[in-house]
Parts: sequence; C-alpha cells; structure tokens
Amino acid sequence: MPLKTVKEYLNSLRAMKFEVYFRGERIENPVDHPVIRPSVNAVAMTYALAHNSKYKDLATAYSPFVDKYVNRFTHIHQSTDDLLKKVELLRTIGQLTGVCFQRCVGMDGLNAVYAVTYEIDEKYGTQYHQRFINYLKYVQENDLVVDGAMTDPKGDRGLRPSEQEDKDLYLRVVKETEEGIVVRGAKFHQTGAINSHEILVMPTISLKGEEEKPYAVSFAVPSDSPGIVYVYGRQPSDLRSLYDAPEDCGNPKFAGQEAVVIFNDVFVPWERVFMCGEVEFAGNLVEYFASYHRQSYGGCKVGVGDVLIGAAANIAEFNGVDKASHIKDKIVEMIHLNETIFSCGVACSCLGYKTSAGNYMVDRLLANVCKQNVTRMPYEIARLLQDIAGGLFVTMPSWKDLENGKVGELLQKYLVGKKGVKVKDRVKLMRLIENLTLGRSAVGYLPESMHGAGSPQAQRIMITRLADIEKKKKFALRLAGIGEQENERLE
Ligand code: SF4
Ligand code: FE
Repeated sequence: MPLKTVKEYLNSLRAMKFEVYFRGERIENPVDHPVIRPSVNAVAMTYALAHNSKYKDLATAYSPFVDKYVNRFTHIHQSTDDLLKKVELLRTIGQLTGVCFQRCVGMDGLNAVYAVTYEIDEKYGTQYHQRFINYLKYVQENDLVVDGAMTDPKGDRGLRPSEQEDKDLYLRVVKETEEGIVVRGAKFHQTGAINSHEILVMPTISLKGEEEKPYAVSFAVPSDSPGIVYVYGRQPSDLRSLYDAPEDCGNPKFAGQEAVVIFNDVFVPWERVFMCGEVEFAGNLVEYFASYHRQSYGGCKVGVGDVLIGAAANIAEFNGVDKASHIKDKIVEMIHLNETIFSCGVACSCLGYKTSAGNYMVDRLLANVCKQNVTRMPYEIARLLQDIAGGLFVTMPSWKDLENGKVGELLQKYLVGKKGVKVKDRVKLMRLIENLTLGRSAVGYLPESMHGAGSPQAQRIMITRLADIEKKKKFALRLAGIGEQENERLE
C-alpha cells in the first residue's frame, strides 16, 4: 500500500533541497528548525492517521487510478460519501492538532485541476487530462504532499495582470520551448509549502483576452525545483519555540505555516503543464478550487473550534466558575456556532454532484455559505473563550519565572485556582488559550478564517451568482397574485 509512515515522510523532506529564508538567514534544514518543525508535525499527522486503525476509514480511500488504498489527501472524490469523509477527517485532525495542518490545499487543488483539465480537453482536444492523471498516479503511489498554490501578489488591485507596471505581480509564462515552459512570479500566504514535496500552481483570478494568456497557467513542480525561493512568514509568538520553555508555547508540538514562494524563472516540462493559455478556463479553476476549500473550512475550523470549546470548559472548572449559569450559556453558544459551521460543511458535501470529468464537486452555494460563516463565527467563539478564561491568559509571567526559586514559589502561591487543580496545569491551559486566540494557532483559526479560500466579499459574489434570485422573486409574485398566474390546482 502506498502509505508513507511519519518517519518516511520526515526523511523524504530532509532529502529535499529547499532554498528557505527566515529572519534574514538561509535555513539549511527547515524540517528540524525549532520554529518550522511544529508546522511539519501538523502535516505529519495526516500520515500518522492513515496508519492508525481507529482513523483508517477516514484517512485513506480506494483509488481507482492506482487500484490501491491511498492517503485521502491525494484522493480524487468518487462520491458524496468521499466529500463527507473529507470534512469529518479535517475536523478530526483539527481536534488533534489545534492548527491548520496544511495538506488540504493540495487535495483541493488536485480535485479542481482534475475537473478542469477534462473541460479544456473537451473544448480543444488537448491532452491535459491524461497528463494530469499520470501525475496524479505518481502522487498517489508515492503518498506525496502537494501544495496547492493560488494567491498572486496582485500589486495594484485596480489593474488587470497585464496592466501592472511589473508584469510579474501575477505568475506568468515568460518562455515556451519544445521541452516545456519557464514561469516567473510569486505566490503569497502559501500554506504548507516548505513541508511539501510538490507545488501545484493555479491562476488566481478569472482571465480573458490575448494579453492575459501568459497568466492562464497551471502546472506542478517538485517543491525544491531550481529557482524556487521560500521566505517563511512570521507568526505571533513564533520565537517562543526558540527561546522559551515548551510550556510557554501553548501548543508546542503543532503550528501552521505560511510562506512567500518566489518562482524565479522556473522550468516546467510539458508533461507537468495542465493549462497553458486557455484563459476562459482560469475562472472555472479558481471557482472549483475555492469551492472545495470553502467546504474544507467546514471541517478543519470546526475541529479547532472543538479545542477552543474544550479549553473554555476546562478553564471554567480550573477557575471554579463552571457552575455559573452565564458560563454554561456561553459554552452552549460556542457549541451552537461551531456546529452551525459543521452543518454547512456536511450539507455542501451531501448535496455534491458529479462533474463531467467524473469526480465529485460540492454544492457550491452551500460551500460559499459555509465559508462566509467561517469569516465570522470563529471570532465569536474565540471572544467567548477569552471572556470565560479571564485576563490571566494575556498577563501570565513566563514558565521560567514559575520555576525560579523564590519568585517561583510566590507565583505558585498566588496563581492558585480551584482547590485540587495544579497551578502548573492552570498555567499551561492559559497558555493554550493565548495560543489559540492570539498566538501561532490563532493565525489559522482567525485571520485565515477571514481570508483563506477567499476573503468574505469573494463568497458574497458567489452567493449572489448561485442563489437564483429570479426564481425566488417568482415565488413571491405568485403568492401575491402579481403578474401572469399559472393555473395550478392542489386537489
Ligand atoms: Fe486545511 Fe483548513 Fe489549513 Fe485550509 S485552513 S489547509 S482546509 S487545515
Ligand atoms: Fe487555509
């Protein structure tokens, strides 16, 4: 079975030759760097679950392409049940890591490119789909992490790609040869790039016209291809992994990862090119990927939400306020919000449909509603957790002070909560709450909930387009007896 173990995954990453920078320095071994490693651990969880009998049904899936069970993160959805299992899997990993575990962008990219290459071939008689299937088999057989890359820097947002003063502000083809293409540009906010084996690039917006053809490009390259440069993004409290005790990190084992990825004239052989100049399909690719990823948030953010709810219930106990009715009510509110997000993730999966390529797409209206909820509800869940915790989670002295002789003893005396609760456990939980709502984990839970898979306005545009308002107008007119009436009899 082509399922890598965690150890095999880590060693396969160590063998790669990434060009990575962090705080002005080149990082030779990103996998074992104390700041970067927690984000690698989060991806590693996707490998661990595939070998765990408790989670195998969710974490693996039968692939007709290689006639084997593969990691679900490399799977092409064959049914609505696959879509549903994906959401359940993401919730589970969110619960186990408390962070963005990054591998879903590749799964969503693979499914979107699978559907769109088929459409392009149907129109132009090209060979993209078969090429992509060959690539997919390689990914599945080797259980690779594929990083789906979409967001370009965009420069002046009021200008089209070809109108920018610097034409590279949207990733583009700068040269075509018999062997392949050369691409230049960058991808921003790139989730899980430095811990991936492959990068699958897609355009960032709908495109049109001859002058935008160079931007209509989709391809995959090994993540350590010559010319790719990574700059690891900062996260609040990231240096605690370097300088402080693990107890001060809140969630010391896990983190998300975002990087700037620069493509400095990177060569891509033709067999790895899945779109090249077919401008009218760029919009579909963006929309399909966005729909899948908006569904994804109905799983991953809910799993992290479960951790916040658990932290709220625990800290209420540790503080001795768990019996207060307003605390109980706030926890109910958190659950209600969290399950509302999950309901959307489940609904858009169950109402999914078969694409012309044969894989399954989510109900796109409901996926957009799901993500629109995600731009708001996690903020309210985090606010309620901060309310329940009390102010100590942002004013807590360091673990080193707690362990420092005289001052440590004094702190232990005054940091006491409910009788029977260990002071150090209360401190650790406060740190987790800080991390989840303000620290490294909060990057994935809050601003990523806002902007990941498209900022709120992007969903509102899609909701407007998909909701069929004309049909709704007719329902109202009919009942009010306005305009021509169809002769309908109930009996
Ligand atoms: Fe996966 Fe969620 Fe992170 Fe997107 S935000 S990569 S869906 S964990
Ligand atoms: Fe994301």
